[in-house]
Amino acid sequence: MEKKRVLVVGGGAAGLMAAIVAARAGAAVTVLEHNDRPGRKICATGNGKCNLTNLEMPFDAFRGTDPAFTEKILAQFSVKKTIDFFTELGISIVNKNGYLYPRSGQAASVTEVLCMEAGSLKAKLKTNAHVREVFFENGLWKARTEDWTYEGNALILANGSCASNIPGADGSGYTLAESLGHRIVRPLPALTGLKCQCMYSQAGKKKGSSSFALWAGVRTEGELTLIIGGEPLRRQRGELQLTDYGISGIPVFQLSRYAIRAVEEGRKVQIRIDFLPGISKEELHRLLENRKKACPYKNTKEMLTGLFPDKLITVLCQAPDLEEAIREFPLKVTKGLDFKQAQVCSGGVDTDEIHPETMESRLHPGLYFAGELVDIDGTCGGYNLQWAWSSGAAAGFYAAKETK
Ligand SMILES: Cc1cc2nc3c(=O)[nH]c(=O)nc-3n(C[C@H](O)[C@H](O)[C@H](O)COP(=O)(O)OP(=O)(O)OC[C@H]3O[C@@H](n4cnc5c(N)ncnc54)[C@H](O)[C@@H]3O)c2cc1C
Repeated sequence: MEKKRVLVVGGGAAGLMAAIVAARAGAAVTVLEHNDRPGRKICATGNGKCNLTNLEMPFDAFRGTDPAFTEKILAQFSVKKTIDFFTELGISIVNKNGYLYPRSGQAASVTEVLCMEAGSLKAKLKTNAHVREVFFENGLWKARTEDWTYEGNALILANGSCASNIPGADGSGYTLAESLGHRIVRPLPALTGLKCQCMYSQAGKKKGSSSFALWAGVRTEGELTLIIGGEPLRRQRGELQLTDYGISGIPVFQLSRYAIRAVEEGRKVQIRIDFLPGISKEELHRLLENRKKACPYKNTKEMLTGLFPDKLITVLCQAPDLEEAIREFPLKVTKGLDFKQAQVCSGGVDTDEIHPETMESRLHPGLYFAGELVDIDGTCGGYNLQWAWSSGAAAGFYAAKETK
């Protein structure tokens, strides 16, 4: 019997997984990748070490218009299956507080084992193949590149998003999906820093400058509260990076998709920083009083030395009320950084138009989606790759089952 032919657009995390699973299920697979090699983004993940998944699956690890969409897909190709899959391919996995990495310490090893496995299954990996058009004609799915039109019984779009400055992240998957009538939830940068204005007019400013020049470069522990339209929505604690445009660091990344989307919707977005999380207003007052009493010869700046980094002290001392500034430093969020400086995108192909068990389009039988192209984004911690593995596996499996 003739093998089912599966076309995969995008040789990234989701596309390579889809190709392997489809080939293992007996399909003849062709992956079309416009970069000169597959998996370039995988190689950049986790600071080059690839946080490939996480043992913890908190309920809010995945975001999107309908985060519950992920449940059946993650249940089919779970974290356990991910670990088994990569272990079988040769990736020895190390556990760093629940965050899983290849023992090699090299993200490139993950790309390499995926390509080796795809190759051993005779999946064709066509590089330098930019897919500019996809369509269904005479009973077949077609993907047109500059010099060829590829045909298959099923088509998987796994183009990824337009986040990062890694070559290939051009957002062309949105255009391809849209050309087939799929609705795109507007992609916006996520897991990125936030541009802010200080709500104390002078704090943070050097004379004549308009930014946070005074605190740029500081790394400090803090707790952020995201306030949208006056309502406190989410809190995140961890190491903040204070920058000349505003704030960055993991806790900022985790909140960024909500803040950026709300700003785009024209809503009022604020972040309040607690620079001494975990202690009450009264405790803070006592702490400062005790420091004053212990060393009465110190001015306010000197009294804070040893408690906060110098640059932060300078900024805090410009605030009208020191204690309030330490506990609730108020920032107005004006914008996120741009796509190139974001790790992922929120938004993408509307999940309402995709079957939640198979990743097949509800509009077109034989068309599948996988990975970040879909309106699902994960928090930091390996969740975006887990989504790519799980959705890629589902798309590959069901695309290979597609009846002609
Ligand atoms: C710096 C950085 C660090 C990250 N670290 C982590 C981490 O540690 N853990 C984690 O879980 N997530 C991490 N992420 C996110 C994660 O890398 C992505 O969510 C994941 O790679 C998405 O997989 P994907 O297959 O959907 O997209 P991609 O991996 O981006 O793959 C899409 C592929 O499609 C190709 N393509 C696009 N359009 C076309 C076209 N028209 N024709 C042909 N080919 C096309 C692209 O070149 C690309 O190779 C990180 C992201 C960045 C940028």
